[in-house]
Amino acid sequence: MILPETEERRALRAAVRKLGEKYGPDYYLGKARSGGKTTELWQEAGRLGYVGVHLPPEHGGGGGGIGDLAAVCEELATAGCPLLLMVVSPAIAGTVIARFGTGPQRVRWLPGLASGELTFAFALTEPEAGSNTHRLTTTATSDRGQWVLTGQKTYISGVDEADAVLVVGRVRDTGSGRLRPALLVVPTDAPGFTARLIETDLVAPAKQFALTFDEVRLPGDALVGSPDAGLGPLFAGLNPERIMAAAFATGIARYAIAKAVDYARTRQVWDVPIGAHQAIAHPLAATHINVELARLMTHRAAELYDTGDDATAGEAANMAKYAAAEASIAAVDQAVQTHGGNGFASAYHLAAFLVSVRLSRTAPVSREMVLNFVAQHCLGLPRSY
Ligand SMILES: Cc1cc2nc3c(=O)[nH]c(=O)nc-3n(C[C@H](O)[C@H](O)[C@H](O)COP(=O)(O)OP(=O)(O)OC[C@H]3O[C@@H](n4cnc5c(N)ncnc54)[C@H](O)[C@@H]3O)c2cc1C
Repeated sequence: MILPETEERRALRAAVRKLGEKYGPDYYLGKARSGGKTTELWQEAGRLGYVGVHLPPEHGGGGGGIGDLAAVCEELATAGCPLLLMVVSPAIAGTVIARFGTGPQRVRWLPGLASGELTFAFALTEPEAGSNTHRLTTTATSDRGQWVLTGQKTYISGVDEADAVLVVGRVRDTGSGRLRPALLVVPTDAPGFTARLIETDLVAPAKQFALTFDEVRLPGDALVGSPDAGLGPLFAGLNPERIMAAAFATGIARYAIAKAVDYARTRQVWDVPIGAHQAIAHPLAATHINVELARLMTHRAAELYDTGDDATAGEAANMAKYAAAEASIAAVDQAVQTHGGNGFASAYHLAAFLVSVRLSRTAPVSREMVLNFVAQHCLGLPRSY
């Protein structure tokens, strides 16, 4: 084990891995292909304390850090069960509410988020704004102690499984008329809220939706934390999202590499197993190295985040997401190549993960936007847009 992890973290990984293997890719892909949900796995993970492992113990959590939740997400993916909702519900919504929610909001939402009985989606992306979050137009206006929310979101994962959506928008100050960034909890059964399925070629139980908020009325306490909190709550969620996206990708990569190695050891079409050919062995070794490097950066990003160093964690989380995406795409592609024609057979449970892992180059933040961030903030180059 290369990662410098505690005994406790290793034990957590081993236990989660065991749970993931109990379900495995047959279960996961079976649900994905039949339009089912991985509810049993989610609920069992919740009961065992894995979904809320990073949340405060006084609200039903395990008292660990985002590194622990990333380990949970990674080990489930390594067992062939990559749960996209881990990235949004406990990691973003749970973390934001734990760090910035008011006392009553923490009491109301955290126990359910920790046990997995409550699920949140997370809605940042808008059809017109895209990667340019400065152009968000979803707006909540104050009206007699309530909020009235109007706007649209797109590609929002898991809304059909969610009790509520944590929506990134702006609130209009009634006095000055100024708009301030804000996060609001919107129940999925709120009048005026509609979700339309977007068909994608992602083979996963989690589906994507386009959302419309047509004057959705929300109580005053739907706004997470203080109205003056600014961008703090959003950034509190985005770094965990990147760390989790990295863990999600490296978990799938480890799953694919393990399958490829297994296959390369036994498949023989000349006098030796195909794994003896360096054209098969070397790319697998190289992808393994790159995945381990990405895991190290993910570990470091989580460590920085858990110690409260948000700025440095931001750099590391972006780099980890980038490195994990690139390494994992190459790893799954090489695993498919190692399997020859069998790489495409549904029974081998491999090609179905190509799109899942490819997603990590685009979401939750695209490769190009990470490179923009690193060029500007880490290298001091001029902003290009
Ligand atoms: C399966 C799936 C699940 C998703 N789940 C969620 C979710 O749960 N919640 C959520 O909020 N969002 C979600 N998203 C949205 C995702 O985060 C966005 O698709 C992603 O951030 C890219 O934004 P965009 O699609 O608007 O692309 P655009 O912003 O239109 O960008 C298109 C291309 O141009 C590039 N580009 C844009 N601006 C620049 C620039 N300044 N410099 C260089 N290149 C640039 C981008 O990198 C990209 O390659 C999901 C997307 C998918 C596909």
